[in-house]
Amino acid sequence: MPDPLFKIYGGTVYDPRNGIDGQVRDLWIRGGKIVEAPDDPDVRPDKTLDTAGLVVMPGGIDMHCHIAGPKVNVARKMRPEEKRVAKNVVRTAKTHSGTMGSVPSTFATGYKYAGMGYTTAFDAAIPPLAARHAHEEFDDTPCIDKGFYILVGNNHYIMRALKENEPGKLKAFLGWLLTAAKGYAPKMVNPGGVEVWKQQKAGNVHDLDTRVEHFDVTPRQIIRGVAQAAHELQLPHRVHIHANNLGLPGNWTTTLETMKALEGFGGHLTHVQFHSYGGGEGDENSFNSKVAPLAEYVNANKNLTVDVGQVLFGETTSMTGDSPLGYYLSNVYKTKWFSADTEMEAGCGIAPIEYKNKSRIHALQWAIGLEWYLLVEDPWRVVMSTDHPNGGSFLAYPHIIRLLMDRTWRRDLIATVHPHVRERSSLADLDREYSLNEICIITRAGPAKILGLTNKGHLGPGADADITIYTPHENKETMFELPRYVIKAGQVIVEQGEVREPVDGKTLHVAPEYDREIENDVARWFENYYSIRFRNYPVGDDYLRAAERVPCG
Ligand SMILES: [Zn+2]
Repeated sequence: MPDPLFKIYGGTVYDPRNGIDGQVRDLWIRGGKIVEAPDDPDVRPDKTLDTAGLVVMPGGIDMHCHIAGPKVNVARKMRPEEKRVAKNVVRTAKTHSGTMGSVPSTFATGYKYAGMGYTTAFDAAIPPLAARHAHEEFDDTPCIDKGFYILVGNNHYIMRALKENEPGKLKAFLGWLLTAAKGYAPKMVNPGGVEVWKQQKAGNVHDLDTRVEHFDVTPRQIIRGVAQAAHELQLPHRVHIHANNLGLPGNWTTTLETMKALEGFGGHLTHVQFHSYGGGEGDENSFNSKVAPLAEYVNANKNLTVDVGQVLFGETTSMTGDSPLGYYLSNVYKTKWFSADTEMEAGCGIAPIEYKNKSRIHALQWAIGLEWYLLVEDPWRVVMSTDHPNGGSFLAYPHIIRLLMDRTWRRDLIATVHPHVRERSSLADLDREYSLNEICIITRAGPAKILGLTNKGHLGPGADADITIYTPHENKETMFELPRYVIKAGQVIVEQGEVREPVDGKTLHVAPEYDREIENDVARWFENYYSIRFRNYPVGDDYLRAAERVPCG
């Protein structure tokens, strides 16, 4: 018996990838996928859903968040004060219980994403040595498809290959490492800087040309070397970069240099808001926005994409693979702090943080994020993110949507924050309002394209039947925070924000072609330096309950 045929009819469809901008269309689903409408008009669907008067979009895709792995888990344990007061997620006949706060438990994470109409999310910073941990947490994160990026910007093997001028070795190793970890893309976090942190007290690099001792390489060489390897491996999402000097006044020049270093390859600059600051020279008063020149560079260079990392006012937890940054933040805010190194691969830092609207710095960070959305001309190259939970929770996305679609309300809020926002950013002068179609691009169609996910972010035949259906509302925050229906792989999983059918999502990963000869060298490397045997390192196929290998090339 073939899979049942499901028809969703009468809704107003937004599907920018297929050029559909608010037209009434029917969708046909079979076997978890969107299919062509049957040729024979007498074919009757087995099941229907009337969506007349409702807005239909592909499921949301979060391309940068922190929801799994060792540092997320430490952050959960580190914030009992939040967990105690947050409203718990209560167990039902079909769903598990969970806890919230700025770092929700695994099950709660899945339910809350789905409840908000998001059906796919990528964790942005997993040390490959901890891949198993991340996969295990994914296994407990229902309702969404997920994947992770592996930290490679301070990896000893990679830096050694660069030092020895062996690009072929770097490429083969990157191919092996992504395959072994069942990761999705290479991520560089403060390339070179985390290694200097491990070597020296409060160490870091300060620009793209600082030499990393022992390896004798620079951040610029790491960025170009990994970008080249990713390009040659033809990864669906080439490189994901958290640039050097995050959060520091005056860091915009480092960001511009990082963009330039990618020339010829392109790449994705993440939470770019945190990297767009002017001022400095030890004077906190000089802090200002430098989005305009950076956005101009992005506008002119089509192979660059960004996600924003919007800051929202309130308490949250900062967590990062950027160890020196975690130390810096804990010093600034005088909070508790966690730091850990992952052998020869990576580091991390965690610290609680509170963004205040009357703080000059925080109000400007908020404005700088919004400027990025409003100054990048092509919505296909700017993606909604809060760098959850660093700038704020993913649950703030509907609030950000309203800020982008309603300039009157935006102006009202600008009037409530520190006055430097009017003086040192262009936000108050920006009239742009996003359309529903553009919101659809920056929250699903665009990230799918940037990630090279051809089966997601659109509603054409062959796409995964991940669909979110909203009740239109003048207040776009109200509209987007409580979808009428959420459909995952053809099944209605959420109705009016309530999880009805917590299906398990799949794990998206890559397995690029690489020169297998490299494994002998990597095995020797493991024997000499790693705490784990080479043969025990790769995550086997049987380790993932439901996996999908996304093709390269
Ligand atoms: Zn991040």
